[in-house]
Amino acid sequence: MKIEEEIKGAESIGIGGHIRPDGDCVGACMALYLYIRKVFPTKKVEVFLEQPSEVFRCIKDMDKIRTDVTADEGCEGSFDVFIALDTVKERIGVAEALFDKAKKTINIDHHISNPGCGTVNYVDAQASSTSELVFRILKEENLDEEIAKAIYIGMAHDTGVFRYSNTSPETLQIAAKLIAFGFDFPEVIEKTFYEKTYVQNLLLGRALLESILIMDGKCIVSGIEKRTLDFYHADAKDLEGIVSQLNMTKGAECTIFMYQTGVLEYKVSLRSKGKVDVSKIAVYFGGGGHVRAAGCTMNGTFYDVVNNLSLHIEEQLKQAGVIE
Ligand code: 5GP
Ligand code: MN
Repeated sequence: MKIEEEIKGAESIGIGGHIRPDGDCVGACMALYLYIRKVFPTKKVEVFLEQPSEVFRCIKDMDKIRTDVTADEGCEGSFDVFIALDTVKERIGVAEALFDKAKKTINIDHHISNPGCGTVNYVDAQASSTSELVFRILKEENLDEEIAKAIYIGMAHDTGVFRYSNTSPETLQIAAKLIAFGFDFPEVIEKTFYEKTYVQNLLLGRALLESILIMDGKCIVSGIEKRTLDFYHADAKDLEGIVSQLNMTKGAECTIFMYQTGVLEYKVSLRSKGKVDVSKIAVYFGGGGHVRAAGCTMNGTFYDVVNNLSLHIEEQLKQAGVIE
């Protein structure tokens, strides 16, 4: 796929990513937005996202992101093309209606749980990130420092800074081309990935301190209640990275981390070291993701959620011969 071909003849283009956008989602959306604006200055292009974390301010034109949708969007109330990145249609959020109304829809994603929801689909579950897929559809000669930075941030975030198993030789070859544009890549990674506010570190500390091991230490579980978030004047954006830290526990094959989103409702993050396919489990509970990183929303008490998930985890661990 080449974006030039796909948007040929289109006057208006909408771009959207998933709710609670992460680094890959923000990077992919902004890179494509910046690219289309640069290469096709006469086309109308808009990017729709839920308000991303402040750390992504280092990406150019973050203030152009539309967090709302008005009735007269696009030409004659609809976009000629709407591009959904890093997501299925159901998780686009407010802009889902614009996707539905668009004359042509394109879906670019790397989630194994996504069957493809556009009229044109580019879904590659082997790719490190949607940002890597965005790189592939752009002409290298049209990139610039700002576009390269956005793609790099996306790839770095979804690969845990190029250390997860989704990092391929191609991922690193692309990263090498991107840093050659000259942006301060150590600074960008430090500020968007590693640096935490004091409160974020306190929440990480609590999640670690209050974690429990189940299944003979093969699964680590933790959660943050709504009252704790309120106490620290924090929100879901302050919990980024906690699940990965839990999953670094020696001996644990997988991690359940959840935070409360309502009365008897939790947003669940699952991580695995490879023996458990957490995407399968998340899909079963109405969510999605990758083999080693997935999520869903579940109802019940903290322990209801743990019990429901652990049945599936236990079954997989038994099949893999990890437990008896
Ligand atoms: P996280 O645990 O970091 O929120 O998400 C891990 C992965 O699973 C990400 O790729 C994310 O897009 C995906 N994911 C998380 N929650 C959901 C969900 O509710 N539905 C779907 N389809 N994917 C999810
Ligand atoms: Mn992604």
